[in-house]
Amino acid sequence: MKIHIKDIRPEGLELDATLEPQATGLTEKDSLYFVAPLNITAKAQRFEDTVIVETHLEGKISSICSRCLCDVEKDWIKDFTLDFPIARNAEYIDMDEDLRQEIILNLPMRVLCGGQCKGICSKCGINLNEKKCKCNLKLLSKKQEVEKQEAEK
Ligand SMILES: [Zn+2]
Ligand SMILES: [Zn+2]
Repeated sequence: MKIHIKDIRPEGLELDATLEPQATGLTEKDSLYFVAPLNITAKAQRFEDTVIVETHLEGKISSICSRCLCDVEKDWIKDFTLDFPIARNAEYIDMDEDLRQEIILNLPMRVLCGGQCKGICSKCGINLNEKKCKCNLKLLSKKQEVEKQEAEK
């Protein structure tokens, strides 16, 4: 996304744009990527030799739940401020690389399908959101058995 410096009026310049998912550098091969173009609304203001851009980004990410490994789609919304020094004789500033870096930095480290996700049983591999398994029960009864034996000693 380019901003022509002469377009920035004293009161600022409002911008509406979209960013193609591939501009983020993330693709379906990554553990997390954008499924649709990102919406950008921004306000650029010039302060002497710097352009400050208040940026609001909205997108939809696709990832894998880090507990149960199911596919997850989630809204991703972020506000940040970028500043660009104006090079001598520059006619425009190019936001693409800064946007890309800011997006990557602000992606969640892990995604859950929901706060209540029970995950996958580490013993039998069952998705505990869909089914119950008896592994934990067995584990419990084993523990009780051991405790009982201890008590009898
Ligand atoms: Zn999950
Ligand atoms: Zn299990």
